Amino acid sequence: MQYEGYTPLSIPGGMFSTADLLTEDRLLGSPAINLNHAVQRVLADGTRATGVECYDLLARQQRTYRADKVVLCAGTIESAKIALQSGLDDPDNLIGRGITDHPVLYTHFSIPAGSPWAPARSSAKVWSRHRDTSAGAHPYNVVLELGADFNQGRYIDPDNLRRHREEKGDATLGEIVFLFHAPLVAGNRVELSGPPHLPVRVNVQPYPIGDALRDEVQSLGKHVLDGFGAQPIAGETLDLTTAKLGGVAHEVGTLRMNGVVDADLRFRAYDNLYACDNSVFPTSPAANPTLTLAALSLRLARHLTSL
Ligand SMILES: Cc1cc2nc3c(=O)[nH]c(=O)nc-3n(C[C@H](O)[C@H](O)[C@H](O)COP(=O)(O)OP(=O)(O)OC[C@H]3O[C@@H](n4cnc5c(N)ncnc54)[C@H](O)[C@@H]3O)c2cc1C
Repeated sequence: MQYEGYTPLSIPGGMFSTADLLTEDRLLGSPAINLNHAVQRVLADGTRATGVECYDLLARQQRTYRADKVVLCAGTIESAKIALQSGLDDPDNLIGRGITDHPVLYTHFSIPAGSPWAPARSSAKVWSRHRDTSAGAHPYNVVLELGADFNQGRYIDPDNLRRHREEKGDATLGEIVFLFHAPLVAGNRVELSGPPHLPVRVNVQPYPIGDALRDEVQSLGKHVLDGFGAQPIAGETLDLTTAKLGGVAHEVGTLRMNGVVDADLRFRAYDNLYACDNSVFPTSPAANPTLTLAALSLRLARHLTSL
């Protein structure tokens, strides 16, 4: 967790951990929950998970916890790592395979002070999608953000921001982002590189979106930005740029639904072992993933308490 934003009014980076946000208040409750455990392995007896083995980072000692249901929710890479370290039964050999993050094209822009689209102290975020959603014809969503400097500055390089302000004064900053749907990429994988304390190897190639689609969104982006009288930020252009792999942080698919886990998020080879994080997504959707993940978590919670 990092509680300081990149600019004075921006959202702090590192505040996006679903598990942390949902359980943080329990740290103060009674009994308090010690979240500071690094899980290393799921323990199993045949088709039943019996608990987890982990390292207590506060007491600095190994611990074993027993449970009648186990849910892996350490994120797309770490859950796959734990599953691989545990040597879980994997009928289709899909654990760790397919990891994908959707392609994202974006650009920043500014709108001159005095424009009706550039009020000084407000911001707006607008989601759109193509009218024609048939047969994956236009598989992307568009996020248009006006006043991005007011509520988030994570993509703005501080030097660019300073130069921009020096040259252009009080203009409003904006961002346009195209997020594409992407199937899992078969050759991508998370692999163990040794014992639990070593990092995993992550081998990821981006999903290719093709020139026709790239040209389509470049032209759409230009149309929208022309409509707002958008100008390039000093040192940048209005052409859409492809976000670097790893920069989007929506990676999915290492414990995919209908492959490793079933539609109820239960590992297919186990009676009482589940996964609930972005690893279970069977594709990388064109929308940001977290609301869908929150819905899956609520559904799994209901399922588990009804057993
Ligand atoms: C800068 C940034 C901005 C983002 N913006 C958005 C956005 O606007 N909208 C959106 O939908 N998504 C956004 N995301 C993505 C969002 O953060 C993820 O989709 C979401 O957090 C994934 O949830 P998760 O439960 O899969 O993993 P996480 O939230 O990463 O949770 C995994 C948890 O497991 C813990 N853990 C890891 N390993 C172990 C272990 N061995 N033992 C015990 N615990 C472990 C971690 O500490 C963490 O708490 C953003 C991400 C970033 C980085």
